[in-house]
Amino acid sequence: MPEHVVIVGSGPAGWAAAIYTSRANLNPLAFEGAVTEDNRLQGTLPLGQLALTTEVENYPGFPAGDLSEYYRTALPSEHHWMIDMHQKEGCSGPELMHLMRQQATNFGTKVVTDDIVEVDFDVHPFKLKSMGGQEIEALSVIIATGARANYLGLPSEEKYKNAGVSACAVCDGALPRFRNKPLVVVGGGDSAVEEADYLSKFASTVYLIHRRDELRASKIMAQRAIDNPKIDIQWNSVVDEILGNDTDGVTGVRLKSTVDESTREVEAGGAFMAIGHTPNTNFLEGKLEMTDKKYLKWTVPFRTNTSVEGVFAAGDVADDYYRQAVTAAGTGCMAALDAERWLAAKGL
Ligand SMILES: Cc1cc2nc3c(=O)[nH]c(=O)nc-3n(C[C@H](O)[C@H](O)[C@H](O)COP(=O)(O)OP(=O)(O)OC[C@H]3O[C@@H](n4cnc5c(N)ncnc54)[C@H](O)[C@@H]3O)c2cc1C
Repeated sequence: MPEHVVIVGSGPAGWAAAIYTSRANLNPLAFEGAVTEDNRLQGTLPLGQLALTTEVENYPGFPAGDLSEYYRTALPSEHHWMIDMHQKEGCSGPELMHLMRQQATNFGTKVVTDDIVEVDFDVHPFKLKSMGGQEIEALSVIIATGARANYLGLPSEEKYKNAGVSACAVCDGALPRFRNKPLVVVGGGDSAVEEADYLSKFASTVYLIHRRDELRASKIMAQRAIDNPKIDIQWNSVVDEILGNDTDGVTGVRLKSTVDESTREVEAGGAFMAIGHTPNTNFLEGKLEMTDKKYLKWTVPFRTNTSVEGVFAAGDVADDYYRQAVTAAGTGCMAALDAERWLAAKGL
């Protein structure tokens, strides 16, 4: 018997899709990814990107830290007894993801800890194959495999992840560790300028490190960086080491010139990589329509349909613009409803 819905991916988009489809009695099967060294190295272990971070302060309903005061101000006084009973604490990224997974399995989602490596969307029921060799037939499929942030690949960068190295200014920029300190943003495109501009609200100075003598960003964005008195562009430079220690985390970066062999050190409390993302769509090459950056294309406005009827996409794998947990979960819900309605319309 084919599965009604197979969900591929295990970030907020995948679990939101699983919660909705399981509550709709579609008995979904979720492939959450494999636990392999390759997946660890590229940051695509089960539970997605949020599991790679510590504090998450912007997922609605889950403020960070001790929540008792938050609950006390948010709840009417007759509910305050609950606060003392439950000892409310905020959620870290990994905790939030475990809770989402648990919420999905509570409603009956079946979970397989493996990667999907092959799909055949030319036949219906669709065929999918996992890395471990499992073959599955599916009446509908939701792809929620996310997009991984690109990093420079330096061992020192790996060492200081969650200790000053980040790939998401909107996610992490407002954290206390980055406030009123000089910060570094690496990149030269629109998103690097956007991240630098955003961080300039919190930082004392933002050093924008760019390998060339001209930004790749659009003219209007480049001008925004040049006009911002808090952004100091370090032209013709690359980061060749993240500097830091175990107590403070990142304390600076070493820059290397791209025109000569000289190096210099810049003091900084954080280093933000803004050198693009890689959507996890390798296994879908030639199977679904993609953008030139290999993101899946949503083919119907305000819907999660892909180029194949019955296959839907949710989260960062189809979104190179918002890239937030809450938007991923939102489109996961949309994909679930789209799949449910499509199956019903087909009488499947
Ligand atoms: C360091 C960091 C901090 C962040 N902090 C925040 C924050 O504070 N707030 C916020 O809103 N957002 C934050 N984000 C962004 C947020 O994590 C993402 O927008 C969100 O996780 C995207 O969710 P997703 O479900 O689309 O995919 P992902 O979270 O990327 O999850 C997809 C997962 O699917 C699995 N998968 C991939 N390929 C396959 C396959 N072939 N078969 C089976 N499974 C597969 C993998 O396990 C992969 O990790 C942060 C991101 C990073 C990198």
